[in-house]
Amino acid sequence: MTAVTRFAPSPTGRLHVGNIFTAVHNFLTAKKAGGRFLLRLDDTDRARSTEAFAQAIRDDIAWLGLTPDAEVKQSDRFAAYDAALAKLHAAGRAYPCYESPEELDIKRKVQLSRGLPPVYDRAALKLTDTERARLEGEGIRPHWRFKLDHDGHVEWDDLIRGHSHIDPASLSDPVVRRADGGYLYMLPSVVDDIDLGITHVVRGEDHVANSGIQLQMFAALGATPPKLAHFGLLTSVDGELSKRLGSAGMDALREAGIEPIAVVAMLARLGTADAVEPVASLDSLIAGHDLSRLGNTHPRFDPAELQHLNARIVHQLPFEAVRDRLPGGMDTAAWEVIRANLTTVGEAADWWQVVEGPVTAEVAPEDAAYLAEARATIAELPWGADIWQALVERLKASTGRKGKPLFLPLRRALTGRDHGPEMAALLSLIGRARALERLTF
Ligand code: GLU
Repeated sequence: MTAVTRFAPSPTGRLHVGNIFTAVHNFLTAKKAGGRFLLRLDDTDRARSTEAFAQAIRDDIAWLGLTPDAEVKQSDRFAAYDAALAKLHAAGRAYPCYESPEELDIKRKVQLSRGLPPVYDRAALKLTDTERARLEGEGIRPHWRFKLDHDGHVEWDDLIRGHSHIDPASLSDPVVRRADGGYLYMLPSVVDDIDLGITHVVRGEDHVANSGIQLQMFAALGATPPKLAHFGLLTSVDGELSKRLGSAGMDALREAGIEPIAVVAMLARLGTADAVEPVASLDSLIAGHDLSRLGNTHPRFDPAELQHLNARIVHQLPFEAVRDRLPGGMDTAAWEVIRANLTTVGEAADWWQVVEGPVTAEVAPEDAAYLAEARATIAELPWGADIWQALVERLKASTGRKGKPLFLPLRRALTGRDHGPEMAALLSLIGRARALERLTF
């Protein structure tokens, strides 16, 4: 069976890791089945949705490589929602309501004070035609509710949670269209899923109750529902997905030098018992994807783990994959020496600066003579691939130094740092002329 999935963010803000978790699992579900992955912009909230956020969403998922096969915008589809609402009305499954928000609020407070659940009492269903005409004559525009089937127990086999059910009698008939004609999320999502042939809906457990309602909508519209999968919401290391982390958008990760494949590789495995692996491309993530590996847990997102994974990925990146992001002049040999010391590709520039110079090094007085001797030794030795080895052997023999006193003054003088890539490889990159110059004080 092929699959069609959708990622359906509202363009009312930037994407964060929680949204991307949803996108990743929808993308992988579709691609594993050789199917299609769609971007649906849930922009029915005209006041809060902006084209700038829509574009940022497109840019972010493109950066991650989660390229959609098509894009739809809910704001283009109001005619389809009107038609569905008319169909539901004709079937007795949608009805107009005239209560103001204040009246509804009072009803809820009264129910609560009597110890009753604040479920809408369906007063509008009891209105006669004359009463409706009077209310509309007073200029009151109706909002519309979907009439739940309170007797129908809603059940489904969730691809993550297993057998699931909702008792619709505990829920209010949801408002689907506001008095101003604008649609709320619930019905448009169902109409789109039907029209776009969505086969799998993969989303957070915060939508479980919505699924109960939406399954009744699919049935009322005579459609077969998609398969449903609800995962536990991401948490941060300190519990809830914190504001700081929740607002860590893709732009922040990009600026921090995180590779897009690291983000996807991490989110593909988070919450499963499978190890997070430093993969090179999406292909192996697609091949290894299985929604049922996600348990009933709340996966923990730890930025430090992402950085660690990023480093492991960078250590394996071939020169070809990074050449455009490296400083001019840096070649394959230099990349291969330096990459093992990096956590981000951007840091390569620092090491290239160490190679090219200038470097500043403080020389301890007790090392001055030692370094002068090192300089003389380099000047004398034939410069070749084994120059470092030859240098330290000679210095060891002539000075009796070993370990740290043998190596550290050389590393400091030649690189200006205490740590870094293997000196043998680094000295070859630095070259004879620069090495002699750096040992001259
Ligand atoms: N716009 C909805 C959300 O972001 C989509 C939910 C769904 O996947 O149906 O929560």
